[in-house]
Amino acid sequence: MSPKKNVYFFGGGKADGDAAMKNLLGGKGANLAEMGRLGVPVPPGFTITTEVCTCYYENNRTYPASLAGEVDRALAKMANLMGVTFGDPENPLLVSVRSGARRSMPGMMETVLNIGLTSKTIPGLIAKTRNERFVWDAYRRLITMYSDVVMEKAAGIEAKEDRGIRDLLEEAMDELKAKKGVRSDTDLGAADLKSLCEKYKSIIKTTLNRPFPDDPMEQLWGGIHAVFASWNGKRAVSYRRIEGIPGHWGTAVSVQAMVFGNMGDTSATGVAFTRNPATGDEHFYGEWLPNAQGEDVVAGIRTPLPLNEATKSPDHKDMPSLEQAMPRLYKQLDGIQRKLEAHYTDMQDIEFTIQEGTLYMLQTRVGKRNGQAAIRMAVEMATSGKKGFKISKEEAIQRVRPDQLDELLHPMIDPVAEQKATKLAKGLPAGPGGAYGQIVFTADAAEEWHKQGKKVILVRNETSPEDVHGMRAAEAILTAKGGMTSHAALVARGWGKCCIVGCGDLAINAAAKKVTVNGKTLGEGDYITLNGTRGIVYEGRVPMLPADPERNKWYKQLMTWVDKTRTLGVRANAESPEDATQAIAYGAEGIGLARTEHMFFDPKRIGFVRQMIVSETPEDRKKALDNLLPFQREDFIGIFQAMAGKPVTVRLLDPPLHEFIGGLGGKEIASLAGEIGVSPAKVEARIAQLHELNPMLGHRGCRLGIAYPEITAMQARAIFEAAAHLAKQKIKVLPEVMVPLVGTVAELRNQEDIIRRVAQEVMKETGARFKYLVGTMIEIPRAALTADEIAESAEFFSFGTNDLTQMTFGYSRDDVAGFLPYYLEHKILDADPFQTLDQTGVGQLVEVGVERGRRTRPDLKVGICGEHGGDPESVKFCHRVGMNYVSCSPFRLPIARLAAAQAAVEDKARCGSEARKKAAKKTAKKTAKKAPKRTAKTASRKK
Ligand code: ADP
Ligand code: MG
Ligand code: MG
Repeated sequence: MSPKKNVYFFGGGKADGDAAMKNLLGGKGANLAEMGRLGVPVPPGFTITTEVCTCYYENNRTYPASLAGEVDRALAKMANLMGVTFGDPENPLLVSVRSGARRSMPGMMETVLNIGLTSKTIPGLIAKTRNERFVWDAYRRLITMYSDVVMEKAAGIEAKEDRGIRDLLEEAMDELKAKKGVRSDTDLGAADLKSLCEKYKSIIKTTLNRPFPDDPMEQLWGGIHAVFASWNGKRAVSYRRIEGIPGHWGTAVSVQAMVFGNMGDTSATGVAFTRNPATGDEHFYGEWLPNAQGEDVVAGIRTPLPLNEATKSPDHKDMPSLEQAMPRLYKQLDGIQRKLEAHYTDMQDIEFTIQEGTLYMLQTRVGKRNGQAAIRMAVEMATSGKKGFKISKEEAIQRVRPDQLDELLHPMIDPVAEQKATKLAKGLPAGPGGAYGQIVFTADAAEEWHKQGKKVILVRNETSPEDVHGMRAAEAILTAKGGMTSHAALVARGWGKCCIVGCGDLAINAAAKKVTVNGKTLGEGDYITLNGTRGIVYEGRVPMLPADPERNKWYKQLMTWVDKTRTLGVRANAESPEDATQAIAYGAEGIGLARTEHMFFDPKRIGFVRQMIVSETPEDRKKALDNLLPFQREDFIGIFQAMAGKPVTVRLLDPPLHEFIGGLGGKEIASLAGEIGVSPAKVEARIAQLHELNPMLGHRGCRLGIAYPEITAMQARAIFEAAAHLAKQKIKVLPEVMVPLVGTVAELRNQEDIIRRVAQEVMKETGARFKYLVGTMIEIPRAALTADEIAESAEFFSFGTNDLTQMTFGYSRDDVAGFLPYYLEHKILDADPFQTLDQTGVGQLVEVGVERGRRTRPDLKVGICGEHGGDPESVKFCHRVGMNYVSCSPFRLPIARLAAAQAAVEDKARCGSEARKKAAKKTAKKTAKKAPKRTAKTASRKK
């Protein structure tokens, strides 16, 4: 058996791998190979597979025996193509060592450039390029990256006083710049850089107790080792945890021939997006720097320049674009970006370098984008075809993640208030939306304050992967340095967070916890407000406006496709006319849950509710209930009217009565006693009597209506009188009366009798006719198991998955906080089952319930209410088990609609592939029949 292939070569218009091999070659390696195949100019190189990474960790950090030979052969191939040789003193090849996991982890893994520069190769390269400055510049970059990534981080050396080797070297650079009186590193000459390199090496020797390696192979293997080691570094592990990337995936390493953007004014480097990742605008968009190496654009050391004229902002109008400075190369680049986008049929995030007038592509990948941009791109790609390709509407629906809609539903600064607000500074608009919060200067502080329930804005010079936890906790991020492709911008965009970068007016003194901006000094805890859409920072707290997605035409277009595609209905949980109106605006087709008890807490009514509860006789109770009736009737009139003929599911009283009279003080008890004419002692005794050890499993739900039928009668009357009132005015109504917490069919029958009797009475009294349904929640395991019996009485089911989860797991909803965080942290549970429906366990009860219910009543209407109705994964589950609708809070409706449409598209794809499989089987059978006898015999023997 030949040994496993560990190394995949690319270059010279060919490649061993392709874009489909992301799992093996990592995203970067696979796409480098694909670009190579497409005939895009890519410097040659090779990728060491992710399997080597896994193998490395399984075998005590050692490599497969055949790897070294494979690497040598690949280096020789590169030498052939480039006409230069790794380690050759006269004609040296330099390489970069790059990391790449299956999914991109921005800034997580380290890249080392210019590997191969040593005391032997430096003179050769100087002689060959006749550019001494360039060579020393490349060398000082190699020393900086290598000592930081390989000699310090990968070696697990903790920096003293938080000052890593990189900081020490940068200090030496700053000192030199100060001494020379120059501002930019491009102003340093060859001699300066040469002396700087010597200085660097001596700092490294004294700080890290090891000399900087002067052997090219040692450098190369050091770099490869560092990439593999960084896979399990602290930063990568923490990013993986947040993003849910499994540790066993591993990273690949790509080694690639260096091309140089720092060889003078005809050289450059840049980062670009085939469309704007913050807005979705279809113009090619990006940043570049002349005479610079890749990291410079991203690191925010120099302020990058705009790529082209079309996307120049007014602030950039005096800066030269690549289009102006190098028109021929810009045109070539523009052609390549079009080709790549059409090939991948999605927005690409690309990296390029120009070496003395020749363009090279160094990376392409599907670009991260925020919600707004995702929607606009998906819609435009499905409609315009202007960039030479089109995607289907189904594909467009799949392109937007449901949680990205959430961003559109995020607040923005009230424009009226914004006009009066005090502007502090302006930066680059890296993440749209608005946010205010208290200033903090470190990621740890951000996390700490956030835990205390404060809203914070993380203010930093720039961010690095070490800050990710604090960035997550912050409402928004503000940085003094960096461009639209800086770490802060990338991460914020990925999360749809408000973010401003490159705000040069900020002078941050993190040690003193102060920031000075245009003459004003602010400290930790001071409020600021960010407009991430325009890049403006304001003093203090500026009021926010709730988001209004209806203003966004792409969103509206997408949602019309969504609504045409989905088969699952959506309803809202709402109990006021205002909520109902909001729900309709967000696409509700009905109300799936109106909780009547929410109406009871109104100060005008709570007195009557309490009287009802402490009453000792049915007559007294009826008196109190009669007082409540008009209020409830008005509520229902309001909701029914707002819903204009759409179904409204009203749930009868659910919580234990104790909740309404719990915490009453002596005074309140005395006045309550006075109102109903009994002694305070009696009231106290009644309260004590109602106290339960486990109210969640106590006297609540339909158990109340069974023990106190007057309550059910009053609520049914309020519903039906409201219906009759509107029916008489020819306003359509469709009430669905829902009985909570049913466990046996007898319970439901008991309540159903009361409800239907009252309906008859009301119709007789008023002469009005109206339709209504009687149904139940399925939220007790026994109800799901006996759904066939329950469906004899119920005309509809609504799965109450909050209680169903509680009772299936046996976790008290109110006490789960005691252990759930621990469970999640230790992976006892993958997700909070109260947020995402547990499909394996609770899901079985749902499936059984739907199936058995429909066995009895084929046209049974089935829905879900509760938290899960707005969770995308749970919505997809509801679609698959054949529910008629999901119900969720009004603000989650767009998310539920999109998830439902995606479930329908996925369904179609699955059915399609099943049909294909069936067809394939058929053909297979036919072929088997036709096959010669011998083969058939061998086949049967093998069985
Ligand atoms: P990241 O995953 O952080 O984007 P990369 O491996 O893409 O890291 O490297 C960062 C930058 O280094 C690239 O954007 C590119 O500009 C530069 N770079 C990497 N390899 C080469 C190379 N072979 N020649 C020139 N520049 C390179
Ligand atoms: Mg990097
Ligand atoms: Mg990159």
